[in-house]
Amino acid sequence: MADVSYLDWPFFEDHHRSLAADLDAWAKDHIPPITDTEEAHANVDATCQKLVRVLGEAGWLKYSVPAAYGGVHEDLDVRSLCLIREILARYSGLADFAFAMQGLGSGAISTYGSDALKEKYLPSVANGEKIAAFALSETDAGSDVAAMQTIIENQSGQYIANGEKTWISNGGIADFYTVFGRSSSNATKFNAAVIDADTPGFSVDQRIDVMAPHPLATISFNNSSGQLLGEEGAGMRIALGTLDIFRTTVGAAALGFARRALDDATARAQSREMFGATLADQPIAQEKLAEMALDVDASALLIYRSAWTKDVKKGRVTREAAMAKLFATDQAQLVIDKAVQMFGGLGVTKGVKVEELYREIRALRIYEGASDVQKIVIAREHLKKKD
Ligand SMILES: Cc1cc2nc3c(=O)[nH]c(=O)nc-3n(C[C@H](O)[C@H](O)[C@H](O)COP(=O)(O)OP(=O)(O)OC[C@H]3O[C@@H](n4cnc5c(N)ncnc54)[C@H](O)[C@@H]3O)c2cc1C
Repeated sequence: MADVSYLDWPFFEDHHRSLAADLDAWAKDHIPPITDTEEAHANVDATCQKLVRVLGEAGWLKYSVPAAYGGVHEDLDVRSLCLIREILARYSGLADFAFAMQGLGSGAISTYGSDALKEKYLPSVANGEKIAAFALSETDAGSDVAAMQTIIENQSGQYIANGEKTWISNGGIADFYTVFGRSSSNATKFNAAVIDADTPGFSVDQRIDVMAPHPLATISFNNSSGQLLGEEGAGMRIALGTLDIFRTTVGAAALGFARRALDDATARAQSREMFGATLADQPIAQEKLAEMALDVDASALLIYRSAWTKDVKKGRVTREAAMAKLFATDQAQLVIDKAVQMFGGLGVTKGVKVEELYREIRALRIYEGASDVQKIVIAREHLKKKD
């Protein structure tokens, strides 16, 4: 493992340190052969399905669900989720994605679901048998989620969904979807429901190809029957509460990408000979490395402050999670850009890790609340405190 001195910070307990060491050792042997190839990206569905299975068999997906349903901790432990995302991201964006979506796709069930829903879905999320997805965004309701048009309404005790969702990660390979919709066409209340992929009326309408390939799709529901998740009318609270847990972990994935970029750039600078010395001997290169190292540590501090606050203090961490996500994703973009620069022509060459990181980081500044939206959230929380 690269620099692990941050694990001595007071945010962590001994089991977190063991988790980080064990996962890193496992990832070294199991992750590169699966994802470090063009072929893996060309066949992104099969790669992700395989990654979920492998992560499940190795026991890492247990961290995505509570202990009573096949997990490790009584409640989701955000520090563990962050450490796992950070470490997997250092090896492979797709491995991080496969892990992250199991948690996000089932997180609302873990936190707000009935015992029956938990028993039905969570054990198979934890062992990798079922793939989960989170369906909130729509074409005209991305940042402005409350503009969503999908309807999930109670029709004689059955919850029936009608509408279209887009940008859905795992769309097309998921076994079930956590879906959000209005409680009727003119309602200001929203419902959350779990809908199985084999439910009549469900369809995958279009696959979406993005710059760092992941399974993504536009999906739709046509009189599809769902299972209500949480209380009727509580859908928006459930969506935002779930994002509150997982938003910090997006920052952690960005941190993993940034750490990998810093490590690779450092090794390259120390070995690349120029002007009778190495790149690492050049003062301007040292300035870059210093800025990158500072961004990595500052991101880690914000991420693990947010995760610790959620785990130990409990309650909402809206402000802390927004700060962690905003700073870590934006700074990771800068760290990776500097790494690409230090690699010179090699940095933009396909097959070189920093080129892949340059593409992988971009979407993290957009999904689960774009950077601009995080600024709005932070400002709102800041001004609220002054009332
Ligand atoms: C790779 C990927 C995976 C995704 N996975 C999922 C998923 O699994 N489930 C799901 O539900 N969704 C998913 N999304 C959707 C994602 O959450 C949305 O793309 C995101 O919320 C932004 O919505 P939008 O694309 O409609 O952009 P818009 O809402 O049109 O926003 C465009 C831009 O406007 C800016 N902006 C937004 N609000 C403001 C404001 N108030 N003031 C100033 N500027 C602003 C931001 O820069 C933003 O990027 C995914 C997206 C991507 C790219």
